[in-house]
Amino acid sequence: MKSKRITVISIDVINDEKLSPLERRHLAVARTIAGWFQTPIPIAKLVCAKVVIVEKHLVLDGVYSLGSKSIYLTESVVNRLQPTIETTIHEIAHHITGSEDDTPEHELEIDRVSEEVIKRVEAGEINNLLGDVTW
Ligand SMILES: [Zn+2]
Repeated sequence: MKSKRITVISIDVINDEKLSPLERRHLAVARTIAGWFQTPIPIAKLVCAKVVIVEKHLVLDGVYSLGSKSIYLTESVVNRLQPTIETTIHEIAHHITGSEDDTPEHELEIDRVSEEVIKRVEAGEINNLLGDVTW
């Protein structure tokens, strides 16, 4: 989540079977990327979810739950590859640092994770998944 403070009312996971084939492919890319950052603590799950927050004026891309060590991406994000990857990187940085938005720790980690992802994508590590998706 790119804004400072949010209060989550509910998180309803949308099962993979209810997603479109395109959304499922985007999730597969996100999960592969999350799989590259499983230390020191594994990411428990990365799923699409309907997330309801108190701050109705905010547009939510995703949330990371420190408690469940899980990443939740919203439907509008999972619908497109670029935001799926960007939000995944953002939430991975929360997972690794435990830091909130707009902190130096989180910002630095976003940069570090992004570099690693770019390196591995350029090396062709997700070519098998990218074959049939559009950036
Ligand atoms: Zn955030």
